[in-house]
Amino acid sequence: MGERLNQRDARERIEDLERPALDDRSYRVVTLPNRLEVLLIHDPNTDKASAALDVNVGSFSDAEDMPGIAHAVEHLLFMGTEKVSVEPKSWLQDPRSSSLGANDARCWALSRNKPEHDADSAYLLTIRYNWTNTFQYPKENAYNQYLNAHSGHSNAYTASTSTNYYFELAASSSTPTSSKAPSPNATQETLPTAKDDSPLWGALDRFGQFFVAPLFLEDTLDRELKAVDSENKKNLQSDTWRLHQLNKALSNPNHPYCHFSTGSYKTLHDDPIVRGVKIRDEFIKFYSTHYSANQMKLVILGRESLDTLEEWAEEIFSKVPNKDLPQKRWDDVPVYTKNELMMQTFARPVFELRSLELTFLYRDEEDLYESHPSRYLSHLIGHEGPGSIFGYIKAKGWANGLGAGGSSLCPGTGIFTINVKLTEDGLKHYKEVTQVIFQYIAMIREQPPQQWVVEEQIRMSEVDFRFKQKSPPSRTTSALAREMQKTYNRKMLLSGPAVIRKFDAEAISQAMTFLRPDNFRLNVVSQIFPGGWDQKEKWYGTEYINERIPEDFVAEIKHTFENSAKERPKELHFPHKNEFIPNRLEVEKKEVEVPLKAPKLIRMDESVRTWYKKDDQFWVPKANVHIYLRTPIPHVTARTTVMSALYRNLVSDALVEYSYDADISGLVYEFNNHTAGLSISVEGYNDKLHVLLEKVLVQVRDLEVREDRFEIVREHMSRSFRNWDFGQPFHQVGTFSRYLKSEKSFLTDELLREIENITAQDIRLFYPQILSQAYIEVLAHGNLHKEEALQITDLVEKTMKPKRLPPSHLGIQRTLILPPGSNYVYERQLKDPANVNHCIEYSLYVGNTMDRDLRAKVLLLSQMTDEPAFNQLRTIEQLGYVVFSGTAFADTWAGYRILIQSEKDCDYLEGRIDHFLNSFEKMLQEMKEDEFEGHKRAVINKRLEKLKNLEQEGNRFWNHIFSDAYDFSQADEDVLHVEPLTKQSLVDFFHHYISPKSPTRAKLSVHLVARAKPKEATPAERKTQAVTSLSTILKAEKIDADTAKLESRFEALSLDNAKADDALGAELLAYLAEDLELEGDVVEKVLDEAKAALGLAREKRVSGPVRIEDVHVWKAGLQMSTGVRPVKDLGEFMEGNAKL
Ligand SMILES: [Zn+2]
Repeated sequence: MGERLNQRDARERIEDLERPALDDRSYRVVTLPNRLEVLLIHDPNTDKASAALDVNVGSFSDAEDMPGIAHAVEHLLFMGTEKVSVEPKSWLQDPRSSSLGANDARCWALSRNKPEHDADSAYLLTIRYNWTNTFQYPKENAYNQYLNAHSGHSNAYTASTSTNYYFELAASSSTPTSSKAPSPNATQETLPTAKDDSPLWGALDRFGQFFVAPLFLEDTLDRELKAVDSENKKNLQSDTWRLHQLNKALSNPNHPYCHFSTGSYKTLHDDPIVRGVKIRDEFIKFYSTHYSANQMKLVILGRESLDTLEEWAEEIFSKVPNKDLPQKRWDDVPVYTKNELMMQTFARPVFELRSLELTFLYRDEEDLYESHPSRYLSHLIGHEGPGSIFGYIKAKGWANGLGAGGSSLCPGTGIFTINVKLTEDGLKHYKEVTQVIFQYIAMIREQPPQQWVVEEQIRMSEVDFRFKQKSPPSRTTSALAREMQKTYNRKMLLSGPAVIRKFDAEAISQAMTFLRPDNFRLNVVSQIFPGGWDQKEKWYGTEYINERIPEDFVAEIKHTFENSAKERPKELHFPHKNEFIPNRLEVEKKEVEVPLKAPKLIRMDESVRTWYKKDDQFWVPKANVHIYLRTPIPHVTARTTVMSALYRNLVSDALVEYSYDADISGLVYEFNNHTAGLSISVEGYNDKLHVLLEKVLVQVRDLEVREDRFEIVREHMSRSFRNWDFGQPFHQVGTFSRYLKSEKSFLTDELLREIENITAQDIRLFYPQILSQAYIEVLAHGNLHKEEALQITDLVEKTMKPKRLPPSHLGIQRTLILPPGSNYVYERQLKDPANVNHCIEYSLYVGNTMDRDLRAKVLLLSQMTDEPAFNQLRTIEQLGYVVFSGTAFADTWAGYRILIQSEKDCDYLEGRIDHFLNSFEKMLQEMKEDEFEGHKRAVINKRLEKLKNLEQEGNRFWNHIFSDAYDFSQADEDVLHVEPLTKQSLVDFFHHYISPKSPTRAKLSVHLVARAKPKEATPAERKTQAVTSLSTILKAEKIDADTAKLESRFEALSLDNAKADDALGAELLAYLAEDLELEGDVVEKVLDEAKAALGLAREKRVSGPVRIEDVHVWKAGLQMSTGVRPVKDLGEFMEGNAKL
């Protein structure tokens, strides 16, 4: 790209990007005069606008003596905007499958490019100048408040060579109303061009300031470092992070991959201070050394025209300073040298995991994006069908899972990894498993690269790209901003990562040469094998052994590899042709005025209900079919619940080889057990859907329970029950909450007790009982004809042949009612001895979810408290990295909740939540009308958010069927009930149900108590904390604080005795009242918050909560709610009904 880009008119504009067939967005790539490359996306129908900026610097650029600095700069730049999602996970989910958080793990540290210490002093001055004189949004949470007021949100993450910031918010400032709810095909509104009419402009302007004139406020520094510290502590007991860090730690010490990337208070604050480093200056220096317009990629998506978006981008972002920095690359440093290769590592996990991993030194394939050669290898090695490594070792009883793939760690470096989840027996045979892997690799290397294999991949990648549906705007912008750091031809920005374009035999042959028996590392993870772990990883404390792979084992592998053809088991061979690749891709497109919001009932009788909707808006050759066999049998007792879950897993286990080809061809099935029956879902390209569905149904009906598979499946499941206790407390807490709200629900330890006494014979006898009688409900949705929906129903009936279960025999879904004035606490001690984090979920019951007015008020309250709760409890009080507030809806239970995971104990958190609610009550009373209306608008926008794709619509329908309420128009109803709400009605609602002072509110808190204690702060640390906390709070109160006086008060203060807390509190009081001469009520408020931040506060509670000791007795003392009923007579959904 040349200098001529300085001229706007001569600017190169690339617009003809390859795109999916259904993509109605337009795209433009431009480069601003400061060399910042921008992708503009005009989406005329979007209801959300978004932008993302990716900076080409990450933890690989961390200074060696300040690990985590790139991550800390990310936090500091946006001051408290990084959030973690707290959606609870289902208890049956294997905790191992939890993916890494936003700070993706392929990260981390190096110091080869240490910041040049003198080069940037001029720039430091610029930053300070900007900060004091020109920064337009000095209030630190102004960005979040703005986003919140426009139904928006933001987040950021730090990877190895990327730091990625993004936000999303309403695309328009006008409120859509339910009567003219937007549909994806709604006629295009006139494009907004005025800045005032577009929330996007205001957000971009605030967002851009972070890169033009970053704040690095002194008093947010300590807080954000605490947030980083809390984030690190959240990960300390997570095996995903622990094992990943161990792999990194054992790589070449000269490659940045080896360093610790998250950072902690110690690495970013304590240690540097001891060395006499001015830490704030270090952060600013890091920023000014690595942040440069020419290494930033910006993506903006909005309703505005490309020309308008380009103008805005230029106006805001051309001010970002450009330093013409080179791209960060590590070409000359291998991630493994001969010192690290041919080593074996045995690591001891926190969870009961067992795995074998082979890691090969590979290459960076970024420039080979037209052929993606590593996908040839991962396709074959990772295959699960007949002939595959996995098929063979699964039949031996050695493995429950296998994954393989190449990954680029950074430009210039790549690895190829094969990971096998081992059974107990597999662990004993890990050497044989290794041999099998090398036999298979030798087999594929004997043949030249197979063109037909690649052609199948090409075909599937093209189909997937052609019918790729939209993802949410912020996911689109964030991902594309990151992709733009790569070298793709700009016309292939969207297709490059997805599509394989050509068969490149030469490139594949080269790729295969890396998978050799002298070019790998071997890694075994187990809690019991081999014992004698003699080393500890520095940051997470993982115990391990690291040693040379024994000569004789290496010799065996080499022998196998070279003599493979003769000695190889005949079971290993290339996969068969994939019969599931879809051919029929026609879509019958019948344009409609307004898409239907509900499926129709096309059959309803004593044994079956069939719901059907032909797709009328997404036009993809796909369908979703959900089948529900309704019966109470699976959930009668904990024992039947576990037997049903075992049955489910045995069916899935039996289908692995068969369903794999479908899976890689975009056609997936799911078989599940629920409290009210069994469900089978098949989703994907509709061409071969019936083939897979029939096979699944037959397997469900005819499952042969083999002893060997039963033992493996049972062991796997009981292990995941045991592991559950070692998961994140905030993932566990929802399960206890649900347990206390529903009449019948079982905890993991209750299930674990049952599983030991169940045999294969028990399952053989039990599962036909579930299937013997059921009511069938079917949803067929997508590119299907009505006749096909009816045929599918017939197929289910003919295959399963259940006896009729009259709908009146089905269970009724109810929840417990908490009477007014309730104040209950349920306490559990967490099992993980090393975890230091407590967790509280504080729930307030307001009534029945079927009460639309109450539901609307809960939605509005959640919107209004979202930003203030996070700001107070996380940003100001620093209670912990995980802070969440919002709705609590479960079956018929409607409520509001606040969840915090923290090192502070639960009683203390209880008090802080009360305190927050008290102060919010005042905010609500004083809230201006226009602000109140803004919150209403935000809720309405969220509820009317457009559906992005067919799956989303299918899931929405299915959830409403599954819930028994058939409330397909719930979103519109919510809007109708939010619209008339007045501020006074919310104030009254708050007084009655939410306020801690209310005698009529009903509260239930779950306290999960940690076993381990965090390290105590030293007296000096406590004093520093007190000074920073107090200045933060005073700043929020807009009081100028001279903290020097407080520091001098502290000099003489001794905190080495039992009365330290009182002494500290007294000194703070004296400072506020005497030195600052503040008014009495101000002193009280500030002191209160300061004590909270320092862990000195104890909220005085008038009456203590009732502790729930015996849950059974407690539940027996409560009444049940009315049950879930259909919101209207189901007959009204019948096809041809005039009311529809
Ligand atoms: Zn973070």
